[in-house]
Amino acid sequence: MPESRKSIEEYRAKRDFRKTPEPAPEVQRETGLEDLQFVVHRHDATRLHYDLRLEMEGVLRSWAVPKGFSYNPEDKRLAVRTEDHPFEYLTFEGVIPKGEYGAGTMTIWDRGTYRFVNRDGIEGVSAGKLEIELRGRRLRGEWHLVLTKGGGSDEWLLFKARDLYARGADQAAGGDLRLALPSETFGIIPPMKPGRKVRKAFSDPDWIFEMIFEGLRCRLTRDPSGLELRSTSVGADQNLLAKLPEITKEAGKLRAQQFWIDCVLIALDETGRPSREALADRLRGDTARIAQLYAFDLVHYEEFDLTPVPLIERKAQLASLIPPGRAILFVDHVPGSGEGLARVVQQSGLHGVMAKRAASAYTSGRSEDWIEIEVETHESARKKDLGSTLAPSEGGEYAPSDARVKFTNLKKVYWPDQGYTKGDLLGYYEQVADFILPYLIGRPSHLLRYPDGVEGKSFYQHEAPKHLPAWFETIEIPSESKGRPVPHMICNDRTSLLYLINLGSIDLHPWMSRKGSLDSPDWAVLDLDPKDAPFRDVIRVARAIKKILDAIGVVSCLKTSGKSGLHIFIPLQPGYDYDQSRMFCEGIARVVVRDHGDFATVERATQNRKSRVYVDYMQNRRGQTVVPPYVVRPVPEATVSTPLHWEELDFDLDPRDFHMRSVLPRLSRGGDLFRPALDQGQDLLPAIARLQEYLSR
Ligand code: MN
Repeated sequence: MPESRKSIEEYRAKRDFRKTPEPAPEVQRETGLEDLQFVVHRHDATRLHYDLRLEMEGVLRSWAVPKGFSYNPEDKRLAVRTEDHPFEYLTFEGVIPKGEYGAGTMTIWDRGTYRFVNRDGIEGVSAGKLEIELRGRRLRGEWHLVLTKGGGSDEWLLFKARDLYARGADQAAGGDLRLALPSETFGIIPPMKPGRKVRKAFSDPDWIFEMIFEGLRCRLTRDPSGLELRSTSVGADQNLLAKLPEITKEAGKLRAQQFWIDCVLIALDETGRPSREALADRLRGDTARIAQLYAFDLVHYEEFDLTPVPLIERKAQLASLIPPGRAILFVDHVPGSGEGLARVVQQSGLHGVMAKRAASAYTSGRSEDWIEIEVETHESARKKDLGSTLAPSEGGEYAPSDARVKFTNLKKVYWPDQGYTKGDLLGYYEQVADFILPYLIGRPSHLLRYPDGVEGKSFYQHEAPKHLPAWFETIEIPSESKGRPVPHMICNDRTSLLYLINLGSIDLHPWMSRKGSLDSPDWAVLDLDPKDAPFRDVIRVARAIKKILDAIGVVSCLKTSGKSGLHIFIPLQPGYDYDQSRMFCEGIARVVVRDHGDFATVERATQNRKSRVYVDYMQNRRGQTVVPPYVVRPVPEATVSTPLHWEELDFDLDPRDFHMRSVLPRLSRGGDLFRPALDQGQDLLPAIARLQEYLSR
């Protein structure tokens, strides 16, 4: 059993107060159980660590936390109990000189008050279990400290309890709120506005650049009286949440009890772009218009006024409050380069760019710290590119600008329901090329050609056509069935991509491995194919797989197949072969079927599946293909295989929402969610070992 006290004499004995700036222990403070103080020091010593100090019995009980604090309840962090520190240490910051105990820089990383949640309060220290609620600037909510078994009396585990503040893995860390002013409540001030408008984009390392979304400027607030969303216009006295159930639902999950978020309410028009008309329709009750809230600033947080905090830290804090979702989205920014963002905005037919000084405070009204950059207007941009490319019925205006490809039949209607033409499809691929090419480069690709559109005949093509131009890369791959090497196409650049689409392909089917290492796949794939099972069950199966992958510490990427299923990609380090990737996926598939046989199956034969979701691991074979993200599928809805955040996997998810017209605006807002498939190759052998261990549990 640990001692409740570690004598302050131990603190005194370790230090020479003529040399260290640390406080010598004075009279011990009388401590009750109200308004207890805590501090977390960032201690840049031999090894960087964080010291959590809790006021108890007039001193600061201390724990050194080498890896710092995580809001993910799954992360159990080692916390080593150290000697009690005097109460005066609460405000100490300084450099402990070389040669002295704890030499290094000690800064206050967070400070605030706390209370005991465990019933016996202070007795928790000797009982080996402390449950506390922290009210700091960075640390909020309930945290647990538990003495390890067999770790001696000093080794504890520190972790976040599951509450409003808990986050998943890979969640934003929050901002530095040291400059925040304590302020229990907040009064509303008029919103910050740009001091001027310019026509020319600029770049400056002291500035950040955000997209401007066309919609209604609002503030989303929560205080003890409840949640509200109000227009910032003078005289607007309506709580808009009554009309916006999907936003209300996500607002309820924001990770703070009290906040004021500066934001813009938008609604998407039929091209997937924000428009004022769509918003007016939505606010009149037309629920076909999807409403979203774009959050870009945090003015008040818990009992703190954030207006003096630098913008960049306010935004970091805001990002950490927003769980992944679809109705409330964080407006991320590009640091330094306004020109780059202006080009993207213009291409996607959005509204403009707001330049903001990264270190600026939040002030009311017009400010020179915000500059609006006008890019070509919505309407003119629309006529020039994406808009006209994808506009229904006027199809065929689009003429790709590559002299090396002679584009044909641009006006041919490929999707009769929507009137989309082959020209529209080429326009889509030209826009999405930069995103899709990383998944095609170096890989032999098969085609599925639909020369007459989605309702016409189709045929597979593995072999490169004889008349392929000289610049198009091919690779000879021996074929047993043909008894000769067969040339395969490799789509390495924008021109090659447009060339293949011009041949009548709607999607593309690249190998999972690249030339030079054709036997070694870059990812293992689980293909969830429902046939006649409900999509709800596909979601259930995907969640079950994610749970296993999380438990064994494996990164995975999720996307819609673009038809009725989902694809899960598991990025691999080089050197594994298809037998290994297939074995791994088979292991996972079998666990899922063992645990969820009522809606998951590994039966290949459709008649044996009985409306269950087929967990297909058999694609992990040389020469097999799985469509990459961002291809349009040859189905009547012109849906696109679209990467998703795992958190988007909600029962109201509809894969049909991701189609040729909606994906580009989504990409320009959220970027390529699938990058880990390329960047985070994992060691498969330890993962297989962990899977076996998981299986035997
Ligand atoms: Mn320390």
